[in-house]
Amino acid sequence: MSFMEMGAACSAQAAARVMARCDELATLSATPGALTRVYLSPQHRQANALVGEWMQGAGMRVWQDSVGNICGRYEGRRTGASALLLGSHLDTVRDAGRYDGMLGVITAIEVVQHLHDQQRRLDHAIEIVGFADEEGTRFGITLLGSRGLSGTWPAHWLDETDADGISVAQAMLDFGLDPLKVGEAARARHEIAAYLELHIEQGPCLEGENLALGVVTAINGARRLNCSFKGQAGHAGTVPMGHRQDALAGAVQWMAAIEAGTRAAGPQLVATVGTVQCHPGAVNVIPGEVTLTLDIRGPEDVALDALLQQLLDQAGTIAAQRGLRFSAQTYYSIPATPCDKSIQQSLEEVLLAVQGRSLSLPSGAGHDAIAMADHWPVGMLFVRCKGGISHNPAESISAADAGLAVQALMQLVNRLGCH
Ligand SMILES: [Zn+2]
Repeated sequence: MSFMEMGAACSAQAAARVMARCDELATLSATPGALTRVYLSPQHRQANALVGEWMQGAGMRVWQDSVGNICGRYEGRRTGASALLLGSHLDTVRDAGRYDGMLGVITAIEVVQHLHDQQRRLDHAIEIVGFADEEGTRFGITLLGSRGLSGTWPAHWLDETDADGISVAQAMLDFGLDPLKVGEAARARHEIAAYLELHIEQGPCLEGENLALGVVTAINGARRLNCSFKGQAGHAGTVPMGHRQDALAGAVQWMAAIEAGTRAAGPQLVATVGTVQCHPGAVNVIPGEVTLTLDIRGPEDVALDALLQQLLDQAGTIAAQRGLRFSAQTYYSIPATPCDKSIQQSLEEVLLAVQGRSLSLPSGAGHDAIAMADHWPVGMLFVRCKGGISHNPAESISAADAGLAVQALMQLVNRLGCH
């Protein structure tokens, strides 16, 4: 049997170990009976120790970097070769599921374990990273681990504080890290050939397609805007319908246009009006002003910005027809992160081999790959999760899917690891 065709027994064994290790990591929690593991906490330290042991058992050299990521390296044929870096995060939201993040680290260890068991080395070294903080649960800033490794940690992050007023710098000292050495976590570009992240989908698409695995095309970009329609408040009894400048009626017309226009723009774009305030907000007063938010996301910035402009133009038209004034300010904008095309191609071929069909889909949620993509080609593989539920203790995957995930990741590493 070739390395790439992991036997059924071997795959089932790997899957069982993945599930057991996800369960074991889930016991390292700050809250009894629920999983909460945040950056620079005692549970973070315990998780790093446990994952470090597993990496060591798979024949890896292990270290903790200067921002608290746990890292391991399995040398290639030639010592010092550039590495395929596999990983995801080990921190969680509050009352979290046990697969979001952890699954990507634990399946990666299985891949190296298999290489180690066969005493096989590739042209590239294989490294694994368990990122220290992706979710931002403790300090409200996200991607601390991957921004440390990619060398894009903003200096002001050290001053950010948690709910108890403890700064990142102080928490690092308490953890045994030196905040003056944050920069030492940064890896040189030539040391890493590509970053590969396996993650649960956190959405319902794979389940709907009856597939275990999918290829991620891009991590969605997003824009958030504060918008308002201004009209004229007036007496609900005395102002005739033809004389009104009803801000809420205009906003509602626009919300219907947002939904229709976004649907028409294709299945990968999403737009949401999540908040609406109506002033003065009385049963017998025509609404004089409405403020609302727009959140719009998609995997390609050009298409995203074109849809956004179309929706804003429509708002302007609706406002003009109704004698209202419309305004909008973008207060948050993050570009889309495209996954590397040739890695996507390799993943498609791998998925054809392991599950007979490949499906490509964008990621609606953010991931460590966003920070890694600043310097390196990134590839992402999604694993089906039950009901698309995540950030919730009900988060669930099947052992069979975990087995397919390990096989797919192994085949991908085998393809990319040999030049
Ligand atoms: Zn995650």
